[in-house]
Amino acid sequence: MKILNTLTRKKEEFTPLHEGRLSMYVCGPTVYNLIHIGNARPMIVFDTFRRYMEYRGYDVNYVSNFTDVDDKIIKRANEEGVDASVISERYIEECKRDMAALNVKPATTHPKATEEIGGMIDMITTLIEKGYAYDAGDGTVYYRTKSFRDYGKLSHKNLEDLEAGHRDIAITGGEGKEDYMDFVLWKPKKEGEIYWDSPWGQGSPGWHIECSVMAKKYLGDEIDIHAGGEDLIFPHHENEIAQSEAANGVPFARYWMHNGFLNIDNQKMSKSAGNFFTVRDICKKYDPMVLRFFMLQAHYRGPLNFSDTLMESAKKSLERIRTCRETLSYNIANSKGGKITEVEKNKYSETEKFVRDFEDAMDDDCNTADAVTAVFELVRFINANSSADSSKEYLQKLEEKLLTLTDVLGLVLDSKAEDADPGETKKIEELLAERTAAKKAKDFARADEIRDELKSMGVTIEDTREGVKWKKA
Ligand code: AMP
Ligand code: ZN
Repeated sequence: MKILNTLTRKKEEFTPLHEGRLSMYVCGPTVYNLIHIGNARPMIVFDTFRRYMEYRGYDVNYVSNFTDVDDKIIKRANEEGVDASVISERYIEECKRDMAALNVKPATTHPKATEEIGGMIDMITTLIEKGYAYDAGDGTVYYRTKSFRDYGKLSHKNLEDLEAGHRDIAITGGEGKEDYMDFVLWKPKKEGEIYWDSPWGQGSPGWHIECSVMAKKYLGDEIDIHAGGEDLIFPHHENEIAQSEAANGVPFARYWMHNGFLNIDNQKMSKSAGNFFTVRDICKKYDPMVLRFFMLQAHYRGPLNFSDTLMESAKKSLERIRTCRETLSYNIANSKGGKITEVEKNKYSETEKFVRDFEDAMDDDCNTADAVTAVFELVRFINANSSADSSKEYLQKLEEKLLTLTDVLGLVLDSKAEDADPGETKKIEELLAERTAAKKAKDFARADEIRDELKSMGVTIEDTREGVKWKKA
């Protein structure tokens, strides 16, 4: 497995800290609203990476936080006249619903900032004791950025550059702040805001400290991989490194993975530009698997453009994989049974090539775009080399192979069947049986009437050699 490590800017061979185990931390969303499709990108790509590492046999400890203390949450709570926790709990639940729809596995642990305040106070205390942080005297604790020699190593900036670029920036945050580069670890409470008691008075933590503390608590001082969107490289992840390494005295994360940004019609997504979409909005229009598939067609590091045209094309491509799987299921159900023949055994061994291509792609810095191509090669092979005349065992083996690979990508192929209301499925099947009977009795008017009725239910039917197939849009 090779990973393009943001820290070294090199593709490096992945060696875990502990054999067979992988510890991974992914920065999660701030929960003040429904998640948008940009937030879904790190969730989907790093979930796919995790699934692949599990497929490879790793025992993965995957931690992803919910930032549930933030000005935006407080603002929303004040607007609605409720407690901040009402807002954050609501949107944590909504986020989990979206994740489930996108088939993103729940993390091993989903810590919440508000439940880790004690650990944050401990780490800030350690940083003060070691001289990396100071109490400004007004209830604010700052990190003394210039005291951390390696500051800038992740974003590849050096202190001098940062300083030169910011010389004219006035120090904000009161008299006690020693240097404009210093960032907040703890801030005093403001009227009407949530606060906790601390050695520096009542207040709340800065944003960066939560991830350092949660990573330490759930994964240890040193972790294998830290990931998130590229906007987090500076200052968030840079500050996490400064905090963790200064407090723990060991290197923090060995590999840093960052996903590129998702844009809409080549524009930055923003509410004011009117091109802001939540996952919920998009899932009203498309099956959530189309969104997942769309994200996986690109390499996670590059920018990704979202548009209706591209989603329509993703929908068609996913449909090809689904149709292959449906045909396989149909053929299995209608096969005359039997053991795999020698000829089929030889054919089947040809599928190993697609598995190798898939693994090679995923081993190359999680190249899901090429992995998807390998799945299409397998689909093409299955379509060309199987039918209802094949043995059941051969068909089942092909099906298992297809499902293994699509499962690593987290693509659910028969979600529609699961989603369908069972009462509705029964009705569709009754109508189809009636249509077949009508056709047999040469009552074509009734048969057409039924086809139209099914159409109005969003069901399209296809008369094939093997019988009638139906699909719900
Ligand atoms: P936030 O709630 O803004 O802290 O974001 C949560 C996660 O979503 C972070 O890993 C961000 O980097 C990521 N993210 C936010 N916006 C986008 C976007 N437009 N494209 C890709 N990732 C994003
Ligand atoms: Zn973070």
